[in-house]
Amino acid sequence: MNPFSNLGIRHDIVNAITELGFENPTPIQEQSIPVLLSGSNDFVGLAQTGTGKTAAFGLPLLELLDFEENYPQALILCPTRELCLQITSDLKNYSKNMRNVNVVAVYGGANISDQLRQIKRGVQIVVATPGRMLDIINRKAIDFSQVQYVVLDEADEMLNMGFQEDIDSILSTTPDDKKTWLFSATMPSEVRRIAKKYMTDPFELTMGTKNTGNANIEHEYYIVKARDKYAAFKRIVDFNPEIFGIVFCRTKIETQEIAEALIKDGYNADALHGDLSQQQRDKVMKRYRDRSLQLLIATDVAARGIDVNDVTHVINYSLPDEIENYTHRSGRTARAGKTGVSIAIINSKELGKIRQIERVIGKQFTKAEIPNGFDVCEKQLFALVHKVHNVEVNEEQIEQYIPRIMEEFKDLSKEDIIKRFASLEFNRFLEYYSKAPDLNVSGDERSFERGERPDRAFRSSTSPGYTRLFMNLGSVDDFTRGDMLGFICNNTKISGKSVGKIDLKGVFTFFEVEESAVNQVIEGFKSVDFQGRSVRIELAGDREGGSSDRGSYRGGSGGGRREGGGYRGGSGGGRREGASGRREGGSSGGGFRDFSGKRREDRGGSSSAGRREGGERRRRS
Ligand code: AMP
Repeated sequence: MNPFSNLGIRHDIVNAITELGFENPTPIQEQSIPVLLSGSNDFVGLAQTGTGKTAAFGLPLLELLDFEENYPQALILCPTRELCLQITSDLKNYSKNMRNVNVVAVYGGANISDQLRQIKRGVQIVVATPGRMLDIINRKAIDFSQVQYVVLDEADEMLNMGFQEDIDSILSTTPDDKKTWLFSATMPSEVRRIAKKYMTDPFELTMGTKNTGNANIEHEYYIVKARDKYAAFKRIVDFNPEIFGIVFCRTKIETQEIAEALIKDGYNADALHGDLSQQQRDKVMKRYRDRSLQLLIATDVAARGIDVNDVTHVINYSLPDEIENYTHRSGRTARAGKTGVSIAIINSKELGKIRQIERVIGKQFTKAEIPNGFDVCEKQLFALVHKVHNVEVNEEQIEQYIPRIMEEFKDLSKEDIIKRFASLEFNRFLEYYSKAPDLNVSGDERSFERGERPDRAFRSSTSPGYTRLFMNLGSVDDFTRGDMLGFICNNTKISGKSVGKIDLKGVFTFFEVEESAVNQVIEGFKSVDFQGRSVRIELAGDREGGSSDRGSYRGGSGGGRREGGGYRGGSGGGRREGASGRREGGSSGGGFRDFSGKRREDRGGSSSAGRREGGERRRRS
């Protein structure tokens, strides 16, 4: 008999999850499903993401609810829109062979009328982020008086994000005798308190020892000098050609800087942080999921709820302030039974923090050495060889060229040809790494890689007399350079002539303005909204216009960047699908094109002028 049937799951659900590849229950499913199916307990499950907890509560809910009736019977609260959509889609998949199962996803940053309409049509399971849920409750658009089950998923995250009060208000609209099931990756005292507050004698399930991280994750740390951090980080990435990773930074600015530096250096990378609109975040996430990006550079908050399987590495470019967050970060890898590595790049003063984390996760870190240049070259060489070996040959297309290719190679032996192919890309790596220093703390101090920091490496020089500014909007907001010029002039009343180079990136833009116009630009954008988001302008910092790409491999004398179908070897393949520039010459999709270079005198209501469509203000959820 199917092991899920043994646990008490009906065959139409078993059939659906079998199609999803669920052959055996995960440990948390095995232990929680029988308890939850009884429907008579409150429940606290201490479980990491990626352990199969959605099915652990989702399958029992599908068994317990009455789908002949069309009123809300279960409410699932979770911290992020991504998780909300994921849970909704999972429940729909599990129940695809059942009749009249209505699940609605309720989350901020999307059209509320659609959600209200779906609720009105009748729903048994509501999956929601707290902010939007409360909004809907306040509009008296939903009746929770017959809710029997409330699931608090990723409770620690919800509390971290400040949803405590919203959760209190939402739960006060549900009946006292409902059952509450709480899942959390960690059990800080705040979570304990809400467990106490909302539950009576809950059944407690701890997967592994308390607060223990996923056993499939290896934890490593590298000690480097602060100034070598970026170079060390790139070395680690280069040593792992097949990396599909999430890189955590502490601040939005750091996230942007690292992403920008990596993009400049030819990596498939992009940033995910709280300054992005939901639409921008969706685009970045889609590219990551599709593997167009190999590296996602993220802040803790933005990365919450990321549920991408097969993440090979989590890199803590900076350690989190809150130790609990380390567990959340590392939990993004080694999902669904896979293995993964969580790396911390630290300076020697941070060793104490590593020891603290070890105590919390109940596992030891391995001290690792930054690979030397030779090791990286060797690793890259064999990644290339592997790639050549496995490349899919389009026989039909290539056939016509074969005679000419053969002719070209006729005086070379097989060995010679192989050597030449391998050298094609390998030489550049060799050249870059030939002088590569030891970046481990005790290593050699003299080297060009030393001091290579993103803020030096990526900033291009600023034109004389101009100041470089940063803006938190870019090409993923459908701006072309012309749009951007119009947007700047229109909102600040400076002349187009005062604007210098505009460097449009995916999710942000660097632009130059004459020094005399800097204050006017900063002032002009002070209260401007764009599609419900505040426009943020900051000095980009590189006033003196220092040399760029110093010592950076790809900009180096070896010539060329390694993006073109090159070395990265990752499954994203070759060149990053750069958001910037992608619309060059294309239509801007409405908005600002007619403003290009013109100064608009009718500045009545600057903030609405900056808004393409009166987008709804983004709520926390
Ligand atoms: P979750 O912790 O619910 O986010 O699940 C993590 C991943 O594991 C998801 O991709 C699930 O589809 C998958 N998964 C959950 N349960 C099982 C199972 N019993 N067998 C195989 N994969 C599973």
